[in-house]
Amino acid sequence: IACGLPLATAPWNIIPKPESAEPAEGTFELNRQTPWFADSREASGVASLAVRMLEPAMGGRMPVRNGKPRAADPPAVCLSTQGADPSLGEEGYELVVEPNRISIRAPRRAGLFYGVQTLRQMLPPEAFGNRPVADGFLVRCGRVVDRPRFRWRGYLLDVGRHFRTVDYLKRTIDRLASLKMNVLHWHLTEDQGWRLQIRRYPKLTEIGAWRDQGGRRYGGYYTQREAREVVRYAAERHVTVVPEIEMPGHCVAALAAYPELSCTGGPFRVANRWGVFEDVYCAGKDETLEFLKGVLDEVLELFPSTFLHIGGDEVPKTRWRACAKCQERMRREGLRDEHELQSWFIRQIDRYLASKGRRLVGWDEILEGGLAEGATVQSWRGMGGAVQAAKAGHDVIASPTSHCYLDYPLSAISLEKSYSFEPVPDELTSDEARHILGLEGNMWGERTPEEQDVDRQTYPRLVALAEVAWSPRESRDWPDFQRRLSVHQRRMALQGIAFALPAGVRLGDWTPQLVSETPHDASWPVPRTLLRSGTEVVVEFQYESGLHGLEVRGVVLEVGGRTVAEDRHVGFAGASNRANRYVLRLPPELPGGSAVLRATVRSDGGTDSRGAVWLLPSRLTSQR
Ligand SMILES: [Zn+2]
Repeated sequence: IACGLPLATAPWNIIPKPESAEPAEGTFELNRQTPWFADSREASGVASLAVRMLEPAMGGRMPVRNGKPRAADPPAVCLSTQGADPSLGEEGYELVVEPNRISIRAPRRAGLFYGVQTLRQMLPPEAFGNRPVADGFLVRCGRVVDRPRFRWRGYLLDVGRHFRTVDYLKRTIDRLASLKMNVLHWHLTEDQGWRLQIRRYPKLTEIGAWRDQGGRRYGGYYTQREAREVVRYAAERHVTVVPEIEMPGHCVAALAAYPELSCTGGPFRVANRWGVFEDVYCAGKDETLEFLKGVLDEVLELFPSTFLHIGGDEVPKTRWRACAKCQERMRREGLRDEHELQSWFIRQIDRYLASKGRRLVGWDEILEGGLAEGATVQSWRGMGGAVQAAKAGHDVIASPTSHCYLDYPLSAISLEKSYSFEPVPDELTSDEARHILGLEGNMWGERTPEEQDVDRQTYPRLVALAEVAWSPRESRDWPDFQRRLSVHQRRMALQGIAFALPAGVRLGDWTPQLVSETPHDASWPVPRTLLRSGTEVVVEFQYESGLHGLEVRGVVLEVGGRTVAEDRHVGFAGASNRANRYVLRLPPELPGGSAVLRATVRSDGGTDSRGAVWLLPSRLTSQR
């Protein structure tokens, strides 16, 4: 019976690539009746999450039971925290697929969770979709042993420039978790908006969360209840939310609410243009530190993360130079210049956080004028700051603009460039290298007002960074990654993730069942997220195997039942191709509804022809 079920292509296309993965003969049939067994509270939590994740594609929720299966039970998925190899550590797991049993073992809950993410990717991409697959899926047998290279696998989301909804944050957390990423760096405060409710300072959100944008009140903020909800949702998926409260710069929104915290006294308006602003918190006033400690008290209550980000980047010293209070502070504390004043300022906060059992993270500018004792440095202006901090015995998060800035265009940081990133600089000894906690992909928000814009900048480069952060250094293999990514793109499309198309997307296949010698129509669904009005896409027919080729007599793109673009030339995809690419120019306004690609095709003889239909970005085509 099982032979008709969809089987993921072998070898597996797992991203990030596991430490070891050995396929074996045979398959396991996963269907709606397959029971999941859990032998601990942790395992049962992961099992119930797993069956909920797979519910839409399975067309129902698979049963979860406690304990271990007995001989009479049907083939089952077993999650266990008992008897796992302790060397797998906090996040490692072992996954074994046999014809009558899938077992995932891990010493800790996080490992089980990551084992489930791997299992999900062993299924065909349709497992990520919302449409039930009639009879379930086949999983190829084999064994995976896996653990991460780095403990900090992060993604920065800037909600200061443009507010993002709680719903979008949850989807972001789902996506991070499925890539085995474990830190959401939530950039909550900016010149253009303060996004977190602080009970003691209500004007931060009454005034600071809103700006005038073209005559319209624009912005938003998270209540403390919503922030807790995001933290809880993330924790269940092993994502730590690290909040960032910027200081002493990037704070015009806060100064608009409380101008007395500045050097000049204001007044200020929440910024509605981009850039670095000269007005920063006054480092000379005790009230400023009292205010920030008051803010941090509430932030610490909301966020259990050991690490707390305080920014520290891009602080012009203009106001401090002209401020009597700041100059007085420098005299009293024996500080030689304004860089040392900034360093003094960060030290106060570092000590405060340390007194609460937390650790401070700041951008690499916090190195200037002397680094606070407990500080962890996030290196962004190249890797020089990372080397300097690690050599001084401080922990480091690597996110240089050269590889990790997801808001930069693909023409500046290509997918291959992101994939080639090495977080441990050669200059470090192996002892010093231990200070490199991991990496972050940084998604700054200036140029991405809409969710889909954020998605397209983030993906697929974050997928590459996820592999850099998780997989062993020696397993990095660009052609192999591209092959796995072509499958992963289908998973992303089915999840509704909009992504850039550096490598094209496989829309579907043609097989002998579809092909005949008389011209006839064939169609393939096109995920709407791949279509952007006013742009051009290219459809390519790629022959893969068989005695015959496919003649194509034009293609048509329909959206909501209407033809929106067409290319009617005759092409051929076979052992040698002739004009097998079709250019579709999308209109400035796309109608609503689902999208379908239709083509009139015939074979050049018999029906023995197999191939795939690809959607390529036109930019890529013109480069070839
Ligand atoms: Zn001042």
